[in-house]
Amino acid sequence: MDEKLKKLKNILGEKAKENEPLGRYTTLKIGGPADLFFDAKTIDELTEAITSARKLGIPYFMLGGGTNILIGDRGIRGLVIKNSTDRIAIAGAKGKFEGGENKSTVYVEADSGVIMNKLVRFTIEEGLGGLEMQLGLPGTVGGAMYMNSKWTQPEGYVGDAVYQATILNGKNEVKVVPRSYFQFGYDKSILQEIPDVVLRVVFILKREPKEKLWEVANSVMAYRRGTQPQGVKSPGCTFRNISKSEAMSVPTPNHTTSAGFLIDHAGLKGTRVGDAQISPVHANFIVNLGSSSASDVVKLIEIIRAKVKQQFGVTLKEEIVRVGEF
Ligand SMILES: Cc1cc2nc3c(=O)[nH]c(=O)nc-3n(C[C@H](O)[C@H](O)[C@H](O)COP(=O)(O)OP(=O)(O)OC[C@H]3O[C@@H](n4cnc5c(N)ncnc54)[C@H](O)[C@@H]3O)c2cc1C
Repeated sequence: MDEKLKKLKNILGEKAKENEPLGRYTTLKIGGPADLFFDAKTIDELTEAITSARKLGIPYFMLGGGTNILIGDRGIRGLVIKNSTDRIAIAGAKGKFEGGENKSTVYVEADSGVIMNKLVRFTIEEGLGGLEMQLGLPGTVGGAMYMNSKWTQPEGYVGDAVYQATILNGKNEVKVVPRSYFQFGYDKSILQEIPDVVLRVVFILKREPKEKLWEVANSVMAYRRGTQPQGVKSPGCTFRNISKSEAMSVPTPNHTTSAGFLIDHAGLKGTRVGDAQISPVHANFIVNLGSSSASDVVKLIEIIRAKVKQQFGVTLKEEIVRVGEF
């Protein structure tokens, strides 16, 4: 371990682990070790770990639920910070009763490490609408902000419900920024381009009957169970859907934008490289059947990209985030 890492380990204390294997922190269950690994339980710990690594010039990676990443077989150099912050609170409300109905707007604040499913259940149980279609979305609030995670039936992006957030910017300043700061789009936020880390998020939600919210949430879960492989090791969708303009050039029914449709119709469902397989249930999911390596997954990704390009003339872009050394 080099001198700088030793210094960082001293600052972070006994909780910092050396050479921690990372596969266990991802839903794909693949990935080599982190030089140094730190599980941050509070916002103060999270902030201290990042600012200390930056001051020492040590690279760091912010790990949420590990549900959308592919970590290389040789692991991640520098510090990996697991975000285990978990506070949720009602931060305020405004509005009034109208015609006997409570029409208020309610602000809910969540730490960036809060598990999305916990937050969604909390908001539904409080009778607050805006996140109910995200039930079943794996991962943390921070990861959902990074990707502007979404559901399509009914359509809803996590970013739609954001009011403001507290970030640690690249200059180690803690700032409160409005939703517009994140420039949310399809699978997109500014976090993919700048070194900001999300610390907390305030969501703006509307009072709605709890039963109606559970109805939506339960229908989303039924759709997920019917279309996605269950109980498998996977990082969810491998590729982003194609753009509407690309879809217009592809002779598919209704000019679909679905990457899964293209992979399926390229005849690739079930294709394997080692223990990495294109799910026979959902063609955009790659699953680890047992002891797949990251390089098996990369080879499979390249097979998919080449076949879809050859058959449909479009180049698929990855949704999953590749991290570390392969
Ligand atoms: C079975 C399954 C189903 C899925 N279904 C959906 C779905 O319906 N819709 C959808 O959009 N996605 C879906 N996904 C993908 C994934 O769950 C989402 O993208 C999720 O929001 C990622 O969150 P995470 O905490 O796991 O992020 P991670 O995978 O841990 O990290 C992803 C990226 O976010 C960054 N990041 C994490 N926390 C922060 C933070 N606090 N500040 C700044 N950057 C941060 C990381 O550095 C990394 O670059 C699914 C995945 C699986 C396995």
